[in-house]
Amino acid sequence: MKKEHTEDIESRLTGEDVKPAEQEVQEEKRSWFKRKRQGILTSTADKKEFPEGLWNKCPSCNHICTTQELKAALFVCPSCNYHHRIGSKEYFEILFDKNEYTPLFDEIKSKDQLGFTDLKNYQKRLDEIHAKTDLKDSMRVAVGKVHGQEIVVACMDFEFIGGSLGSVMGEKFSRAVDYCIQHKLPYMVISKSGGARMMESAFSLMQLAKTSGKLAQLSDAKLPYISMLTDPTFGGISASFGMLGDLNIAEPGALIGFAGPRVIKEATKKDLPPGFQKSEFLLEHGFLDFIVDRKQLKEKIAQLVTLFQH
Ligand SMILES: [Zn+2]
Repeated sequence: MKKEHTEDIESRLTGEDVKPAEQEVQEEKRSWFKRKRQGILTSTADKKEFPEGLWNKCPSCNHICTTQELKAALFVCPSCNYHHRIGSKEYFEILFDKNEYTPLFDEIKSKDQLGFTDLKNYQKRLDEIHAKTDLKDSMRVAVGKVHGQEIVVACMDFEFIGGSLGSVMGEKFSRAVDYCIQHKLPYMVISKSGGARMMESAFSLMQLAKTSGKLAQLSDAKLPYISMLTDPTFGGISASFGMLGDLNIAEPGALIGFAGPRVIKEATKKDLPPGFQKSEFLLEHGFLDFIVDRKQLKEKIAQLVTLFQH
């Protein structure tokens, strides 16, 4: 009697009724459950693949939706408006008309000039990322049209060593400014970065001066520079071109600062005010011109470019 009861549970777990004709199948299932009790012995190669990234859970409100739904909502949580982190590919798709744009300076690649090794050799780290993604460095530049108006957009990819500022980003940034001056185009930079790339040491820090100097040339040419800060923007970025925009704008809820909240708290030994370093806090304290919802981003940028033109 007891044995029968156990069998019943097992058959229900498999989601099928047990019929005498399926005795053989049932035998197989029963043996599978027996095996489970002794520990699962299925090799990794035999395991069934579960499609990756099919469902997404919002880190802010735990709302669950499919990747397609999230993509349709421009990676903004439909329930709480949390802005998920996205890369240059997604931002270009959001901004440029029909997702048509020309990538610029894509041939420049990072390399280990100093033979730097931390936990890993820097070159090895670069090779691994190059093998894993299509990204050549932490910034991609493209020229295209936003509601019919041409603009150069440089966007960071956090995926590539935390969107860190190295000599390649500095060079791409500078060439993008030259391109804007040559073609009389507005310039927009979307920042998402942990700061300077430590593996490039002083070469990385030199980019702060280089990019800031380049922006002065853009300003002399009377061309607008829009800096958009997204979650997270820290260190060398907020200490240089991130905060130098003719307009400094940000996404809602983005963490923006120089040092992180934990470091500041440890240094000052004081509790930080609520919402510290969030874009809303920065707006209130005069660091930002406005906060833009991702769903209104394209509209807003097109408006701004028109305003600057007149
Ligand atoms: Zn949410």
